[in-house]
Amino acid sequence: MADSQLRLMAVHAHEDDETITMGGTLATYADRGVRTCVVCCTDGKLATIVAPDMPEETTRPRLAEIREAELREALRILKVDEVEFLRYGDSGMAGTPTNFLPDAFWMVPIDEATGRIVAQIRRFRPHVVVTYDGNGGYGHPDHIQTHRATLLAVEAARLKPLYKDAGEPWRVQKLYYTAFPRAEFERMVETAKAAGMEPPFGEASADEMEFLTADEDVTTTIDTVNVIGRKRDALRAHHSQISEDWPQLTMPDEVLKQFADEHFQLAMSRKPAVLPENDLFSGVEAS
Ligand SMILES: [Zn+2]
Repeated sequence: MADSQLRLMAVHAHEDDETITMGGTLATYADRGVRTCVVCCTDGKLATIVAPDMPEETTRPRLAEIREAELREALRILKVDEVEFLRYGDSGMAGTPTNFLPDAFWMVPIDEATGRIVAQIRRFRPHVVVTYDGNGGYGHPDHIQTHRATLLAVEAARLKPLYKDAGEPWRVQKLYYTAFPRAEFERMVETAKAAGMEPPFGEASADEMEFLTADEDVTTTIDTVNVIGRKRDALRAHHSQISEDWPQLTMPDEVLKQFADEHFQLAMSRKPAVLPENDLFSGVEAS
C-alpha cells in the first residue's frame, strides 16, 4: 500500500451499523481514493430478524454467517476496500440476560478487546478512525464496548511498550464519533409532517430519543448526496436487519437528498482543528 494514500478505519459493533451511521461517508472517501476499512466487533447473531422471507427457526442458527455475507455485500456496494471480523458474540440489547453470556462481547476483558483493535490499527495504519460516542450512540452494550476498546486502542497503538506482539506502533491523527444531531432529527420530523408523511420515528419527541447528539457537540458534516443511491443499496444489502419501511428507503428521492449529510463529533486531533469542518481529513498529513 502506497504510503501517500490516506486511510480511514471505522470500528463498529454489528453488521449494518457502518452503513446506517456512515455508509455515505465511507462511499464518498472510497470514491476520493482514500483506502477504507471496516472492523466489525461482533457476529450480530442476537439481532431481530425483520425480513419476511427469513423465518426465525431456520435463519437464527445461521444468522452470524448471513450477516457477514450481508456486510460484505454492503461494503462491495460502498466500495470499501477491507473488512475485518473480530467475531465476538453479540451481547443483545441493554439490560437483557444475554449481556452476560460467556461469549458476549460485553463480557470480554477490555484489555483483550483493546489488543485486537490495536492489532488492526497497526496493520491498516489509518490516519482517521471513527467509532461511537460513550453511550455507544444509543446505549447498546456492544456499542459501548466498541467505543471503550477503540478509544483505548487509538492511544495504545502509538505506544511501543504496549501490546508488543500487535505490530509496529502507529499514530492515528484524528478520532471521531458518529453523530445524529438533534436539530437534524427535528428537521426530519418537520419535513415529514409538512409532506403529510408519517414521522420516521413515530410520535416520539427529541427528548425521548437517546441516540441524538447535542448540536453543539457536532463538529463535522460530510455531504454524501452524490452517493445516496449506493447508501440505499447498501442498506438493502442488510436484508435480515433493514426492511423496506426503513426511513431512507421510503423517502422520495427529493426528500432524501435534503438529508444526505452525515455527521460526526471530533473526539481527538493531534493538531489544533478548525471547527466546524466538512472533511474528516482536514489537517491530516498522509505520510
Ligand atoms: Zn449495532
